[in-house]
Amino acid sequence: MGRDLADMGFSTIAVHGGVSLDPSTGAIGPHIATSTNFAAAYGSIGFSAEATVADEVPFAYAREGHPNAAQLEQKLALLDGAEAAVVFATGIAAISGLMTQVLSPGDHLLVSDVSYAGTAEFTRGLLAGMGIEVSVADMSDLDDVRAALRPNTRLIHAETPCNPVLKLVDIRALARVAHDHGAELCVDGTFATPAVTRPLLLGADYVVHSLTKYMGGHGDALGGAVLGRAEPMDRLRREVGVHLGGTLSAFNCWLILRGLETLPIRMAAYARGATQVARFLEDHPKVRSVRYPGLPSHPQYALAQRQMSGPSGMIAFTVADHERFGDGLKDQLRIFHFAASLGLSRSLILEARTEDLRRTTFKLDEAHLRRYREWAGDGFYRLSIGLEDPDDLCADLERALSAS
Ligand SMILES: *Cc1c(COP(=O)(O)O)cnc(C)c1O
Repeated sequence: MGRDLADMGFSTIAVHGGVSLDPSTGAIGPHIATSTNFAAAYGSIGFSAEATVADEVPFAYAREGHPNAAQLEQKLALLDGAEAAVVFATGIAAISGLMTQVLSPGDHLLVSDVSYAGTAEFTRGLLAGMGIEVSVADMSDLDDVRAALRPNTRLIHAETPCNPVLKLVDIRALARVAHDHGAELCVDGTFATPAVTRPLLLGADYVVHSLTKYMGGHGDALGGAVLGRAEPMDRLRREVGVHLGGTLSAFNCWLILRGLETLPIRMAAYARGATQVARFLEDHPKVRSVRYPGLPSHPQYALAQRQMSGPSGMIAFTVADHERFGDGLKDQLRIFHFAASLGLSRSLILEARTEDLRRTTFKLDEAHLRRYREWAGDGFYRLSIGLEDPDDLCADLERALSAS
């Protein structure tokens, strides 16, 4: 089609990126191409990953790349301002794949003290068992990060806003610390999406996303992605995509491509709804604290204003009586579902007890446990605000709060 989308606005890229008119049918939307194999000129396909994904044919065997994955990767790269993207079967496949690729035994990984549970458990478990040194720092405190660096620190992995507590990380400053030390920075952008923050443009070396969440946006397709410079992404595809085989299916690519078309308007709607709910909670006498990047009460509100073009749709809050509120929730909620995911049309609520997370997931030393408790108390509730009417969401929470 010859559109140069890189110069166009974000919403135009969300709709048109990666997808062009099909020359054989004239279809203006993507077909689902389910073929596992793609024929080439006689004799041109090698039998190693090196040769088949190399330059001779666009596609050979679908594990190594297929048309819907290529469309999705192109759209994602345009949205995040990346040279290239590689999609994976899930977000955690993207994260574990990148870390497996970048880190070698003897290297040190500095990971956020608080993060998506799967990242915390993978890095402290399987990865550490492979001979990679893993330690934690509070990525919102650069002094804590600097103190945790080691001569062999190869990668820093951070999330912003970070799951589940909604602390923020100053990406530009953290990238400078990483690069001054000869390390690279990976940012998990799942909570923000490129509609809100584009970490590569702020100096990060890699961005990872769970496409399962806001990016797909409908709670009907798992997916993940890594984005970065062309050369390391090419290596990631050849070494991890092909040899570990966490390929994203054509159907899921197609669903996520469709979901991404509405990413900008969905993120605006989530922000609008979540801002109303966060203000309602903050004014409620039975709520003790609210952590939402769109409220001036967020301790890093200035950073949110600088780094995020909107506050996204995730809220954490604590209540005066955690137990009674929890009991009330069971009976009072008509709209919110109790579920662990986020970024769907439906609103979700999740209870996060500090004692449980400390024991099972974060395994923090005393100093970082103290930091965690200062921020999150003994426990809090995390909301993923959906696309329902915010008045109905507030009424749902009001019923549970007034019963507590
Ligand atoms: C859900 C999530 C992941 C993992 O993604 P999956 O698609 O569930 O594997 C990674 N990072 C963050 C911040 C998440 O919320």
